[in-house]
Amino acid sequence: MFTINQYVLAESLEQAYALNQSRINVILGGTLWLKMGRKKFNKAIDLSALGLDTIEEDEDQFKIGCMCTLRQVETHQGLDQHFDGVVAKALESIVGVQLRNGATVGGTLYSRFGFSDVLTVLMALDASVERYKGGIVSLADYAAMRPDNDILVRVLIKKDPRRASYSCFRKSAGDFPVLNCAVSKLEDQWAVVIGARPGRARRIMFTVAGTPSEENIQSIVETVRGSIPFGTNLLGSAAYRRILAEVLLRRNIEAILMGGAQ
Ligand SMILES: Cc1cc2nc3c(=O)[nH]c(=O)nc-3n(C[C@H](O)[C@H](O)[C@H](O)COP(=O)(O)OP(=O)(O)OC[C@H]3O[C@@H](n4cnc5c(N)ncnc54)[C@H](O)[C@@H]3O)c2cc1C
Repeated sequence: MFTINQYVLAESLEQAYALNQSRINVILGGTLWLKMGRKKFNKAIDLSALGLDTIEEDEDQFKIGCMCTLRQVETHQGLDQHFDGVVAKALESIVGVQLRNGATVGGTLYSRFGFSDVLTVLMALDASVERYKGGIVSLADYAAMRPDNDILVRVLIKKDPRRASYSCFRKSAGDFPVLNCAVSKLEDQWAVVIGARPGRARRIMFTVAGTPSEENIQSIVETVRGSIPFGTNLLGSAAYRRILAEVLLRRNIEAILMGGAQ
């Protein structure tokens, strides 16, 4: 359990940002991950009065406020009608509804967890994040950056006609994934994202004209296995993950060729 000296309900992003410049202060998301640690903070900065707990949808994109819960994202009707419903598919296997009702999008993406199902699926959708001072950056770039003192304000997902599929492997329901994989296809561009390697998700882009042949698919599999580093932890070895990566990747490509989603 973490401890704080003072709770601050932020009245503006500027105030929250200014307070967050001190390393002994902390932004609060759903606090589910913070609660797992034992850190001591001076000021805890709550963003929940800033109207960042809604998902806005217009003709071009979805804008997901950082205080939206994973459950809000999972059950959003507009998102479900796009990308073959892949977002809900990816989120539904994270622990249970109770956790997804508390965990926030901001806390999730800021943390850039190596096991994150959310990071993996959103990178395949070419999502971007809006930071208060740092502006908009692609999620793939954000995932590779070191965590800083900026505030993640929103996640942006363009409404393009991409097809997508997600799959992960867990030893038991509710456990952390041993490996996860998301694939999307927009015209001839295929995005392959592998997460829980066990490091942060990595994305590789491929261009394949028309329907990929078995030769094309084998070449994608070999590139992924050869250029994405896999590691060993308590959940599985690097060699095991390399084998899983091929299986999940092939399943996702097949699902897209059959019409999308897993
Ligand atoms: C037991 C357990 C099991 C889990 N299993 C999985 C799993 O299988 N798959 C998966 O994908 N995820 C899993 N998660 C992670 C979970 O989905 C959330 O990602 C995690 O709880 C962080 O979200 P939060 O809202 O609780 O963040 P918090 O704990 O509130 O914050 C985490 C960090 O983010 C910072 N932060 C919060 N919001 C912002 C913001 N807007 N801008 C800048 N910094 C911010 C905080 O200061 C803190 O450093 C698990 C979590 C737990 C506790």
